[in-house]
Amino acid sequence: MTERIHNFNAGPAALPIQVLERIREELLNFQGTGMSVLEISHRSAVFERALNETVARLRRLMRLPDDYQVLFLQGGASTQFYMVPMNFLSAGDVADYVDTGTWAAKAMKEAKLLGHQVHLAGSSEDRKYSYIPENINFSRDAVYVHLTSNNTIEGTQWPEFPSTGGVPLVVDMSSDALCRPVEVKPFGLIYAGAQKNLGPAGVTLVIIRQDMLDRVKVNLPSMVSYQSHAAKNSMYNTPPVFAVYVVGLVLQWIEETIGGLEAMERINREKAARLYEALDSHNFYRPLVEKKSRSLMNVTFRLPTVDLEKEFVSEALAEGLGGVKGHRSVGGCRVSLYNAVTLEAVRDLTGFMKEFVRRRG
Ligand code: PMP
Repeated sequence: MTERIHNFNAGPAALPIQVLERIREELLNFQGTGMSVLEISHRSAVFERALNETVARLRRLMRLPDDYQVLFLQGGASTQFYMVPMNFLSAGDVADYVDTGTWAAKAMKEAKLLGHQVHLAGSSEDRKYSYIPENINFSRDAVYVHLTSNNTIEGTQWPEFPSTGGVPLVVDMSSDALCRPVEVKPFGLIYAGAQKNLGPAGVTLVIIRQDMLDRVKVNLPSMVSYQSHAAKNSMYNTPPVFAVYVVGLVLQWIEETIGGLEAMERINREKAARLYEALDSHNFYRPLVEKKSRSLMNVTFRLPTVDLEKEFVSEALAEGLGGVKGHRSVGGCRVSLYNAVTLEAVRDLTGFMKEFVRRRG
């Protein structure tokens, strides 16, 4: 490719062009230091300022109440799968998990591996994770309820979060953080690998409420304790400087260029509506999930045959539409519509889809 293409990858994924240009502009000399952001100390005043501005921007965008702390950690969302139970569960405690897909199941498996009591409060495995369950059977004494807000592989998303009667929600928002405003009060902890909606791979956002921080078990190794990271403002050890810097630029883009999360949601809804409409208006394409559970972020569908799917993916790429192949565990096609994917990209894709049906349908 000699030109940039429309990038529908599931993660790492598209970044706003304005962010990439800004990185290029200041890559060799970060804020007059004479050094690249890749070369500066995490203890330098310029980096601390960048980190604090990033946290402040996130607080504004998500309207975080004062009793929530923002952390930038490493190890990906997968590390949160075991950090969460290690920090909050003691012998005899129970945690509720809702199994809505591959990642939700992995989170639950890690908690079990640590020997904790995990209660399966709801599941959509019976129909290949094609819906978000409505009947959830919370246990009365759970320490937390774990959910995956958007199921990246299967293409479902919680349209709204269930009421847990005050039990803190712990939510994996890796693939839909900041795609829409959410009321954060029910959340004891939110985590998200950055590499879909927030920035590059290498940093994980964690938002934790004070009462959860107070509940963290003692005698944990420092690196797995939320308290050690919170006490040092994410600088207990060297944070991923470059990744945090890019997250800061992405948040600035959401706030200043897009105009905040309400505007971001409007754009995301329009993109998803156009794509689902293109899928629904031809018998040829077969969306994989129930309408009311459809994700704004990852759109999954099949074509009549595996051969047609292969042709669809390769012809799309030839037209500058990349990353539309489905996850290997599901097959078919998956189009990711993260924040940085433009309406123009969706217009080009739906145009291609119409044309593909005309030729091959
Ligand atoms: N949770 C969800 C919902 C995901 O989509 C992913 C990655 N695709 C993960 C967790 C795992 O993230 P990581 O690779 O950052 O560990």
